Amino acid sequence: MAFAAIHPEAGRIDATLPDLGCGLTWAAVHKTRPRVALRCPECGYGVHAKVSTRKLRYFAHDPGRPADCAWLNESLEHHLLKLELATAVRAADWHAEMEVRASDGTWRADVLASSHDGTRHIAWEAQLSPITSEDIQERTERYRSSAPPTPSSPSTPASAAPSAPAATFPTKPPRSSASTWRS
Ligand SMILES: [Zn+2]
Repeated sequence: MAFAAIHPEAGRIDATLPDLGCGLTWAAVHKTRPRVALRCPECGYGVHAKVSTRKLRYFAHDPGRPADCAWLNESLEHHLLKLELATAVRAADWHAEMEVRASDGTWRADVLASSHDGTRHIAWEAQLSPITSEDIQERTERYRSSAPPTPSSPSTPASAAPSAPAATFPTKPPRSSASTWRS
C-alpha cells in the first residue's frame, strides 16, 4: 500500500489530502469506469485506489506487482506512522508530501516537510525497526548531498539545494487506532 500515486494527467496525487493535493476528488480516482491509469511513484507499476475498513484511503498495487517495491513491503504500522507524521506537519502549517523520492534516487522520504516559502525542508522517516546511529548518519548525509525534488505545491518555488536533515524520535501509537498497532 502507499498514500501517493502518479495520475496520468494531474501528476502526483496524495490520498491523505481532501483534494488529493491537486484539486481532484477521491471519487475521480476511486472505483471509476473506465479505470484511471494510476502508477506507483516508487516502482512505476499500476496501482488502484482503495478504502480500508477503517476508512483509510490508500493505493494498492495491481495484481502481479513487482515483489521488490519498497512501499509494497512496508507494514501497516509504518504507513499509519507516516500518516501521523504528515498530519503533525500539516498541523504545524507546513507543506507535507508523502513518500517522496529524490529525482536521482539517492533517498526516499516517508514525509517531506517544506516551509511555505520553499526555503526549508525536513525529511521525516517513520522508523519502527532498530537502526544504528551510523545508519542514521549515513541517511542524513544522503539527504544533505541531494537537492529535494521540485515540490508539487504550486505556491512553493524551487530552491537551491537546501539540506534536508532526517530525525528520529520516540513515538506512541495513535490513540484512535491503538488496537491496530497491537495486532
Ligand atoms: Zn510500487
